[in-house]
This record gives sequence, structure tokens and C-alpha cells, in this order.
Amino acid sequence: MGVNIMSEMNEAEKYMIEQIRQGDSDTWTQMVNRYNGRLLAFAQNSLPQRADAEDIVQEAFIGFLKGLDNFRGQASLETYLFTILRRKIIDSYRSRASRITCLIQDVYKSSAQEQTTDVFGKIADSKPTASWYVSRDEQYELHRESLEKALRELVRGMKESFKFRDLEIIELLFYSQVPNKDVAKILEITEKNIAVKKHRVIKQVKEKINPKEYNADPLSPAFESMLSEIWESQRLSCPKRSTIGAYLLETLDEDWYNYVNFHLNTLGCHFCRANLEDLRQQQEESKQQTTFRQRIMESTVGFLKKS
Ligand SMILES: [Zn+2]
Repeated sequence: MGVNIMSEMNEAEKYMIEQIRQGDSDTWTQMVNRYNGRLLAFAQNSLPQRADAEDIVQEAFIGFLKGLDNFRGQASLETYLFTILRRKIIDSYRSRASRITCLIQDVYKSSAQEQTTDVFGKIADSKPTASWYVSRDEQYELHRESLEKALRELVRGMKESFKFRDLEIIELLFYSQVPNKDVAKILEITEKNIAVKKHRVIKQVKEKINPKEYNADPLSPAFESMLSEIWESQRLSCPKRSTIGAYLLETLDEDWYNYVNFHLNTLGCHFCRANLEDLRQQQEESKQQTTFRQRIMESTVGFLKKS
């Protein structure tokens, strides 16, 4: 099995964007058809009225076109669309918590979490915000890039060597920003073990980026917060849509199945759950169509002229 992780924009997506930039309406139709189901499923988490959810998805697509000139392919197309959509939902729902990345965050609220800046908002709005890092210089962007690369490699390595338990730990720590003691509770591991793993991962990442060039203290809360920021904005550990499809069809190996199940149902990643819901609906529709076609065939075949 290949490495089932989300990645940055691929060539097909780049081509698609280029066509849309040139005003190609067929490509735009294709894109809307491809993504509207999963976006709608995501929106319905927060806006249970279908009409409201549809409106906000529509606004997100408009927002995408309006901001097209600013889009630099810093995340996959799907992640970018979710980002815009989430921004719109937050705008329409000021009173709600600003982080709606995964279900587990609804349960484990931490003060660290509340201090986190809204990464998604930052990507969607090209306007600069007053966060702690926006004012940094180009050098910072370079560090961020190498850190992102190091994290991506780390996740890939864990998946390739089936270290899913470790991956679950760091997903809870960095993606969901659950405090150590709660990670220990969820996974039934001692808090000390969690702390050791966390320290090791941070050290490993630190070794991968060039320490000479990196002037921030790699064990500082700022560094940790940067790890979380990258993890979330890149959805570093999110399984691919095709993997979620295989999960639904129960064709994944046991290890993968359990991990994807964790990501969807324990962690409760809202982005991946939206994909799951969309795939489930597609499967249901195709089942209905097949049944309908069979009914037509069975009821009409006797009337076919024998030649
Ligand atoms: Zn996910």
C-alpha cells in the first residue's frame, strides 16, 4: 500500500486551477461537482438546516473564486476549500468556538487551545493578522517550510512502519492539542509515557531541521504551537479520500482500519468525517440506482424482441 496521506496540491489540481483562472466554466463545474458533497457534509456539522448549509457552501465557492489570485497552492485544494468554508461558518456563528477541527476538542477544552490563533482563517483571508508570527521575516517562512517537511517525513515514517499508536499520540497532542494527561486517559497510557514520546518527537523534528539556522528554542511553547499550526493547516496526518473509501468498504488491512477508525471516530476529524459522509451518500445513491436499473432490466427483458 502506498503512503496514504494528504499532500500539497498535485499537478492535476494545478492544471485545474489554471483553467479556472482562465475562466473555463467546464472545469469549474467539474470542481464544484467534485467538492460540493464533502463541503456540504462539513457545513451540516455546524448548520443542521440544509438550506443554511447550502448557502454557506455557495458562499465558500464564491469566496474561492474571489480569492483565486491569492491562492498559492500551499495546501491541497480540498484543504483550502475546507479552510474557506470554515472561515465562513465561523463568521456566521460568532458565538461558537473558533476551533472546529475535531470532535475530541469539544470534549477536551484546554487553555492552550483557546490561545491558538486561527490558522485556517489566516490562510483563507489573505489579509495579514496580528498573530505572533505573521510579522516574522522570510527567514521564518524558510524555517516553517523545513519544519513542515520534517513533520511530513515523520508522519510518513510512522505510517510506513505501522507505528500507529505513536501516530495517535502525536495526533492528539499536536493536531487536537489535547493536554498530556487527557491523551493518557484516552489512550490508556501513563502520562509519563506520553511526555517521553512527545519529547522524543520534538527532538526528532528538531534534528531534521537545521539547528544552526533555527534560532527559536525548539522546546518552547512557541515551537510547540508552531508544530500544531503546521499540523492543522496542512492536515499532515489526514488519510486520503481513497483510504477513507477503502475504510468504508472494509477493504483496509487491520492496522490501517483501526488507525483510520481512530482518526474518524475517536479523534473525530471533521474534515475526514465530511469525506466519509459524502462517500457514504454516494455509495447509497449508486446502490439505489443499481437496484432501480436491475428492476427495469428484470421487468423489461421479457419484452425484448428475440432476434
Ligand atoms: Zn482528518
